[in-house]
Amino acid sequence: MKQENKVYSSVLDLIGNTPLVKLNRITSKFKGDFYAKIESFNPGHSSKDRIALYIIEQAEKQGILKPGDTIIETTSGNTGFSLAMVSIIKGYECVLAVSSKSSPDKIDMLKTMGAKVYVCPAHVSADDPRSYYEVAKRLHEERKGSVYINQYFNQLNIDAHYHSTGAEIWNQTEGKITHLVACSGTGGTISGTAKYLKEQNPNIKVIGVDAFGSVIKKYHETREFDANEIYPYRIEGLGKNLIPTATDFDTIDEFIKVTDEDSAHTAREIARTEGMFVGYTSGAAVQALKQLSEAGEFKNSDKVVVIFPDHGSRYMSKVYSDKWMNDQGFFDSIHEESIQKVQY
Ligand code: PMP
Repeated sequence: MKQENKVYSSVLDLIGNTPLVKLNRITSKFKGDFYAKIESFNPGHSSKDRIALYIIEQAEKQGILKPGDTIIETTSGNTGFSLAMVSIIKGYECVLAVSSKSSPDKIDMLKTMGAKVYVCPAHVSADDPRSYYEVAKRLHEERKGSVYINQYFNQLNIDAHYHSTGAEIWNQTEGKITHLVACSGTGGTISGTAKYLKEQNPNIKVIGVDAFGSVIKKYHETREFDANEIYPYRIEGLGKNLIPTATDFDTIDEFIKVTDEDSAHTAREIARTEGMFVGYTSGAAVQALKQLSEAGEFKNSDKVVVIFPDHGSRYMSKVYSDKWMNDQGFFDSIHEESIQKVQY
């Protein structure tokens, strides 16, 4: 884990102990104080470094992984990058089945980090043989000496955040945190962090952020899988078309849904107001804060921690591209304000 004033033996020593930074402007009209846990300070620029290192090291401890073995995973990009990074340092081969919804930048990055990448169609059901779950399972069965990380169904995903993110937030807020607001994809971040925090103080309220088009919120409320909730949406890493066992629904008090459009505008607003260049789901998380504040969730004495899972540089061809925003219909009119025409 990262320590101050130290020379590190590899980038793996820089994982975790990410900063908690006060939001000063975007939440200034809300009751309460708001703090962002900025996970892009991990060396792989996302929270997924934590689970990649933790799960691989647990497999090593149990003697499951030998040098030269293969790490296999399905991923929207961030977990793949982190697994590729850890695999390079530790000498494993990394094979990734990714969704076609992932940005081209992410796929190029994975390849740059030495991973073998299979791009699979996004809008097929999870049990379709073309889905990235089925492709990863097949690769795992075909390859001897391979480990399938299976982050959506791996308890170690929760444990990684229980042991790191949860403890860090408790210490950084000196136990004064009242609310945790976090996007839920696999659910590992919110479940592990919430479990640790609620063990310290059961009154801490934990609110998950979900996407319109995902089944997670409805499942939390009814404990039933409702396929009618599912339809395509844009945000990567948020929500799901299945129920991951890496989500411990009992640790989460409620879910709130946000739209692709609101989240995109809010991500841009975070950059403009706070000087933080963060990913699309950080926009979703702050959009949730806006909706919660509007609904009267917070009081002046509250200390709210929101997770910013990754860095904005991964979304240059998406949420930070005016063309992409126009193509989605997210601007009212063709938007050229950011294009400066230089006169000579
Ligand atoms: N944001 C982004 C950008 C992600 O990639 C993910 C992970 N899929 C999340 C949020 C959600 O984190 P978790 O999987 O731990 O729920």
